[in-house]
Amino acid sequence: MAKERKKGKIVIDSERCKGCHICIEFCPNNRIEVDELLNKKGYSPARSKENVSEGEKGCVGCAICATVCPDVAIEVYRAK
Ligand code: SF4
Ligand code: SF4
Repeated sequence: MAKERKKGKIVIDSERCKGCHICIEFCPNNRIEVDELLNKKGYSPARSKENVSEGEKGCVGCAICATVCPDVAIEVYRAK
């Protein structure tokens, strides 16, 4: 039987984000990247990567990114 894998999803509020990119460094599965569009405050916000490349793990909903974000800009959703 296939092992059940934890799945997660994050939503980043780009207008709250100050572009520090700490979340990008801390995500263990490399699920966050820099958005090329600036937000209204002129920062380059982080965004969730849309596609999971071959050999990469998807978001597991560990919430490390939300925990380290100094601006509380990340919400984490978990699904089974
Ligand atoms: S840690 Fe928070 S403020 Fe910093 S880039 Fe990530 S979402 Fe933006
Ligand atoms: S919840 Fe965990 S796996 Fe998902 S983006 Fe945040 S740090 Fe990465």
